[in-house]
Amino acid sequence: MNKIMKLEYTAKIAGINRIGKDIVIINLKTSNPIKYKAGQYIHISLPYNNNILVNPYSIASTPNDKDIEIHIRNTSYGLSNYFYNEASIGDVIKISKAQGEFIYHKTNNKIIALGGGTGIAPLKAIIKQAKIANHQNDIDIYFASRNIEDLYLHDYWKNFEKENLNINYIPITIEQSSYPEIKTGNIFDILIDRQKSFVNCDIYLSGPPAMIEDGFKILDNTDIELNNIYTESHYRKYAGKNAK
Ligand SMILES: Cc1cc2nc3c(=O)[nH]c(=O)nc-3n(C[C@H](O)[C@H](O)[C@H](O)COP(=O)(O)OP(=O)(O)OC[C@H]3O[C@@H](n4cnc5c(N)ncnc54)[C@H](O)[C@@H]3O)c2cc1C
Repeated sequence: MNKIMKLEYTAKIAGINRIGKDIVIINLKTSNPIKYKAGQYIHISLPYNNNILVNPYSIASTPNDKDIEIHIRNTSYGLSNYFYNEASIGDVIKISKAQGEFIYHKTNNKIIALGGGTGIAPLKAIIKQAKIANHQNDIDIYFASRNIEDLYLHDYWKNFEKENLNINYIPITIEQSSYPEIKTGNIFDILIDRQKSFVNCDIYLSGPPAMIEDGFKILDNTDIELNNIYTESHYRKYAGKNAK
């Protein structure tokens, strides 16, 4: 990732929502309007302990929303530690223009969104954008995390499913939980179990690199068209390597 980045926007922290032991949702207001497409990311920079920290974060909001929303998992280091433990309303940070190729593509296909951890952030934007674009076909949202506490958008997606007839929400944890509606296991095993054919489907994949690699290994051997799998461009190297 190129860290020499032009940080042309100033943004003020307008909202902080700390969830569970390591997730924080931040709302940012930029001094000048910033152009972006649902699913893209920005670089965020902050002077911190005699360093300038710069990291990319996905945007979870759409251009129709008034603030930029980002979701951060605290690693106890660097920028994520600042956002989770120290950030206050009104703090000022620098951000870059938006970039990235993981964006919503308007088609009539069924949408299958697969998100792991904070990888759900750009999917929140993409699915909201699909609804804004009046997407009529089904939208299946698979959201996977280690355990129930890490499934930080569980209530959001449950309500979204209730309010929208074409939304199906499939929550998944690796660890067994006592919630009957939550499936346990590998996100792709659960996907293959539910979805027998991928003809006329668009897949949006977002999560840690190991999850994306795993996803391509499994999807390469289904009837999905590789061009119908959308993910961030640096993950395309995993595509098609395992096709038989
Ligand atoms: C396109 C893209 C989108 C992304 N979107 C998101 C997102 O939406 N949400 C999200 O949470 N993350 C996202 N990430 C990951 C994010 O950019 C950071 O990598 C992540 O938040 C970790 O950053 P950090 O500041 O916590 O730590 P780092 O940048 O990993 O480290 C900060 C400092 O701490 C030091 N350090 C780190 N680990 C240790 C250690 N174990 N011991 C001692 N020193 C250490 C480092 O050397 C460094 O000086 C995204 C990444 C990419 C590429």
